[in-house]
Amino acid sequence: MPDLRDLYQDVILEHSKAPRNFRELSAANHKAEGYNPLCGDHFTVYVDIDGDSIRDIGFQGSGCAISKASASMMTQILKGKSTAEAEQLFARFHKLVTGAPTANGDQTELGKLAVFSGVSEFPVRVKCATLAWHTLHAALEGKQQTVSTE
Ligand code: ZN
Repeated sequence: MPDLRDLYQDVILEHSKAPRNFRELSAANHKAEGYNPLCGDHFTVYVDIDGDSIRDIGFQGSGCAISKASASMMTQILKGKSTAEAEQLFARFHKLVTGAPTANGDQTELGKLAVFSGVSEFPVRVKCATLAWHTLHAALEGKQQTVSTE
């Protein structure tokens, strides 16, 4: 059995206790709601897109440490990035947490998000780790309905 302590890295615990960009954006021109019924994680992601770049991003809601830390770090890394870069990072992050083989340079691109690599040992936690990203994806696509991981 993999050790749970390897999953809850300090940086994950720190972000879950003090999430960054944890606010509703009044200027948001894209938003979506995401729900993971398996764990009860429930977030709304707000994005202010200028042209094709993410000018500002925030989130609100509640969930477990993994889902909240993932949302927090996602908002941190995506601010100022283009929407295409955001989708690319999501694809790489998804590979990381599902334990799929990663290409050269993927880890470098992911930067601090690499702390979530331990999630691949806990399949039930993959939905927690990717919820904010699925929700962001829906927001960028302009989908109105709630995204569910089920
Ligand atoms: Zn969760």
